[in-house]
Amino acid sequence: MMNKLVMATNNANKLREAREILSPLGIQVLSQQEAGVSCDPDENGSTFAENAMIKARAVYEACGLPVIADDSGLCVDALGGRPGVHSARYAPKGQECAKLLSELENIPGNERTARFVCNVVLMTDSGSAVFEGRCEGSIGYEQRGSNGFGYDPVFMVGDRTMAELSADEKNSISHRGAALRELCAYLNEGNGE
Ligand code: IMP
Repeated sequence: MMNKLVMATNNANKLREAREILSPLGIQVLSQQEAGVSCDPDENGSTFAENAMIKARAVYEACGLPVIADDSGLCVDALGGRPGVHSARYAPKGQECAKLLSELENIPGNERTARFVCNVVLMTDSGSAVFEGRCEGSIGYEQRGSNGFGYDPVFMVGDRTMAELSADEKNSISHRGAALRELCAYLNEGNGE
């Protein structure tokens, strides 16, 4: 099994989570910077998979090493699946939770269901493969917790927000954790060499 991957992201939290999940399996995850790649391609796809593919291809073409790219976001049922692929651009950084709470102000508890979705693309010399993970939950009424990033302080799983979970707890249930575990199973079967 390969022992080194480059992660096509400029998001330090995504990189940290991927390392937490993949390094116990003996896979070293290099940042773009460590691989000597500087790129931030236009994520103009209409699905998580398309955007993950755009990022993976850009970094793979720049460094020629095996690459993983993650595209992820939050889909809120009461908003018809928004912000979805636009999650990163929904509000200025740090204001996404407040904006979401205000958009859902009059939505009752049973209609606040939502899910995080993550698609991970692996691109190597032998081609590409895509993996998906989901995490079902709902949007709370206030921000709680200081772990994680993005929408974690308003995303409820059981009676806690994702930002109240430890890193290990989050990784064990998160969309990114699920997609990365699918990737690991694929690599363990001897694929992607
Ligand atoms: P991307 O970097 O284009 O994939 O944008 C993903 C965006 O979705 C991030 O900027 C966050 O706002 C949100 N997001 C993705 N994963 C998570 C997560 O695990 N917790 C909280 N927000 C997330």
